[in-house]
Amino acid sequence: MKINISLKSYNSFGVDVISKELYEVYSEDEVLKTLNSLKDRKVFILGGGSNILFTNNVQTPIINVKIKGIKIISENNNHVSVSIGAGEIWDDFVKWAISKNLGGVENLISIPGYVGGAPIQNIGAYGVEIKNVFLSCSGYFIETLEKKEFKINDCQFSYRSSIFKKSLKNKFIITEVVLQLSKNNHKINKSYKSLNDVIKSKNVKDPTIKDIAEIVSNIRKDKLPDPSIIGNSGSFFKNPIVSQDTLTKLKERFSDIVFYKENGIKYKLSAAWLIENCGFKNIKEKNVSVYKNQALVITNLGNATGREIYSFSQKIKSKVLEKFDILLEEEVNII
Ligand SMILES: Cc1cc2nc3c(=O)[nH]c(=O)nc-3n(C[C@H](O)[C@H](O)[C@H](O)COP(=O)(O)OP(=O)(O)OC[C@H]3O[C@@H](n4cnc5c(N)ncnc54)[C@H](O)[C@@H]3O)c2cc1C
Repeated sequence: MKINISLKSYNSFGVDVISKELYEVYSEDEVLKTLNSLKDRKVFILGGGSNILFTNNVQTPIINVKIKGIKIISENNNHVSVSIGAGEIWDDFVKWAISKNLGGVENLISIPGYVGGAPIQNIGAYGVEIKNVFLSCSGYFIETLEKKEFKINDCQFSYRSSIFKKSLKNKFIITEVVLQLSKNNHKINKSYKSLNDVIKSKNVKDPTIKDIAEIVSNIRKDKLPDPSIIGNSGSFFKNPIVSQDTLTKLKERFSDIVFYKENGIKYKLSAAWLIENCGFKNIKEKNVSVYKNQALVITNLGNATGREIYSFSQKIKSKVLEKFDILLEEEVNII
């Protein structure tokens, strides 16, 4: 156990707060022992810290899940099921899959964080979400120590959300994730516009898993700041989902508003467009700014505190509400 330790290197915003008690756990046994020793206390579960904004020192014990291991647990002609320890780095796993020519997660390359953190908000990028390859995840209820496996249909996956971000928030600790990858006949997903544009412009005829990974990785390098250099948590807000009626009214006032069809009746607005159109593009306030290449990303320019970042984000939120009557919802977990 680490006592009174700085969390600066444990969160991608690089916010310097103190954790009173931090437990790094490397096996299921250690998870159980730690939970037992903390019985009847609230705990906070930490993965790679890439989707968290700490606004205060953390008094609650933190359990940082570091369980490693990637293994193929079953296989047929077309698919493999892979069990992955929750503490594996997500991007290491994606690179492992690509090196074995296993398809399904290539569009999700370069997303920071651990494997255990990935189902929490149903990570997604470039037309794919983890739910598209998800079979199950297992772990323990913090209060009762009961072990449970959640199959895909138990997880309530939706856009940047799951049961683990809602009713089971801070109640269940994921120790293992099982995903299904394709061995043969993998259908490459190139539906996402900016990905498809590059494929066309480079005249890539039948893109392979490796091609997609390389293209996505390059697009991301251009658009997103590297957290090891500039603190950030990727998209700070979710793209708001609105009804046809709301969209029609917005289009009457803002004819160039950017939106995507979400499903038959709902539309996803570009939160980056809303933010930029409130005048926040490349805006800086003390140690915090909106990233120059992507207005949805808030950055720590140096020694910003979590509160400074949070208060800047709330200014953006109220401006967007005032101008568009749209309430942005944070994607990042505010602690
Ligand atoms: C530069 C950058 C780009 C990003 N791009 C994307 C993107 O394209 N798509 C996307 O979806 N996200 C993106 N993100 C957000 C983030 O990387 C993902 O949400 C990631 O999956 C978070 O994992 P983590 O291990 O860092 O979780 P953490 O930040 O440590 O935790 C996030 C939440 O999950 C909970 N949690 C973590 N691990 C566990 C566990 N084992 N059991 C139970 N609960 C747990 C925590 O309590 C917390 O509530 C980006 C972030 C950055 C910094």
